[in-house]
Amino acid sequence: MRRPRHAKIVATLGPASGERQTIQALFNAGADVFRLNFSHGTHEDHKRRLDLIREVERDSGRPIGVLLDLQGPKLRIGTFPEGPIQLVEGKAFRLDLDTRTPGSAARVALPHPEIFAALEAGTELLLDDGRLRMRVETFGKDFADTRVVIGGRLSDRKGVNVPGVVLPLSALTEKDRADLAYGLQLGVDWVALSFVQRPEDIIEVRSIVDGRAGIVAKLEKPAAIASLDAILAETDAVMVARGDLGVEMPAEQVPSIQKRIVRACRRTGKPVIVATQMLESMVTAPVPTRAEASDVATAIYEGADAVMLSAESASGRYPVEAVKMMSSIITHTEGDPNYRAAIDASRAEPVARTADAIGLAMRDITGLLGAAATVAYTSSGYSALRMARERPRAPIIGMTPRLATARRLALAWGVHAVLCHEVVDVPEMSELACRTALREGFGASGQTVVISAGMPFGTSGTTNLLRIAQI
Ligand code: PGA
Ligand code: MN
Repeated sequence: MRRPRHAKIVATLGPASGERQTIQALFNAGADVFRLNFSHGTHEDHKRRLDLIREVERDSGRPIGVLLDLQGPKLRIGTFPEGPIQLVEGKAFRLDLDTRTPGSAARVALPHPEIFAALEAGTELLLDDGRLRMRVETFGKDFADTRVVIGGRLSDRKGVNVPGVVLPLSALTEKDRADLAYGLQLGVDWVALSFVQRPEDIIEVRSIVDGRAGIVAKLEKPAAIASLDAILAETDAVMVARGDLGVEMPAEQVPSIQKRIVRACRRTGKPVIVATQMLESMVTAPVPTRAEASDVATAIYEGADAVMLSAESASGRYPVEAVKMMSSIITHTEGDPNYRAAIDASRAEPVARTADAIGLAMRDITGLLGAAATVAYTSSGYSALRMARERPRAPIIGMTPRLATARRLALAWGVHAVLCHEVVDVPEMSELACRTALREGFGASGQTVVISAGMPFGTSGTTNLLRIAQI
């Protein structure tokens, strides 16, 4: 089965999409990667969903990517046993470490000593996705007295963002470590790390993951944007996590930051996902707003590898419709003659290395000969990603003997991964590439395919061969 588009769709699973039938429908509608959000649900919930995804994968014969999203050091206040309180602008409110005393209109627990250690007078704290705001006036190692800047209703366990400060927190909490161990044992393909602040956060996770999954850095903190290049050097992929990013930074800065991140990812050839609120109104309505349709299209014109659905597919009323809508916006946008111009204009210069030289030649030959498809034999997935970095016109068939690679490539722009046996020589390589292009619906008899591979076969990092073949 061939998708009619280059950009990919990540769909979050949740209570609205936990059944086999729904997961199958989401896949049929266009979901390429499923996201298991470990901020919600039990290990059993996630295992059930993963098992169902693997059933759908087996029945469809198409590799499907699974992304485990770790909650990360999301900061939360305590509870108000008497019910939600009202914060009033200009009034004092205290946050402290005391989790035993119930929250009241005057104070609530914030059980994170690291925050108090990192505060300064004047630091702003944002609560409940930035809906409420307070400024720190005086503080000690176990409390902060604040003044409410923007008031409103506050209820149990709402999130707290501290935008201006690099918190001395590990990117992995105890819960994350347990979730990660569990997910790796289940065999997820990608692990997304929330609230990344520094490149060391990625290095720490990589030492645990140890090659068993790809790592996605979720960029949602000002500190991460400031260290963008250093983080990109360590991570395998990136998520523009606009939900928390839009709380931590002013909303008007999010579009330009998104553009900057997508561009930087395209330069380094690391897959980039644009996420959050893309079709938000479809949580409750069967159609998106015009602005939302435009937002998805913008990410596609920028050349993002993937766009993501969160609540729309996890807990909304129209999960399948949201995926269908996203897919048709992508397909339509990619069909716009201006799309090619936009993608070409934002293409990064190739790096002087063999894999890029092959990628560049493939791209030019594909355009010149009007080839039906390009085929990249890839073991680790690296050469398929370098090929995708060129954003060629023709689809990229990523042929790999490794199932883990095929699944991981589900996230990459333009790559249609196919599992194959190891080839031994060039005639077999050409023959298998042509047969696959024909079988998967990428070309007809007589059409051209452009094939890249590395010799000796089966060794990764050797991309050095380019062949033009006729189906
Ligand atoms: P979340 O991450 O949905 O896990 O918060 C995405 C975002 O913040 O945009
Ligand atoms: Mn987030």
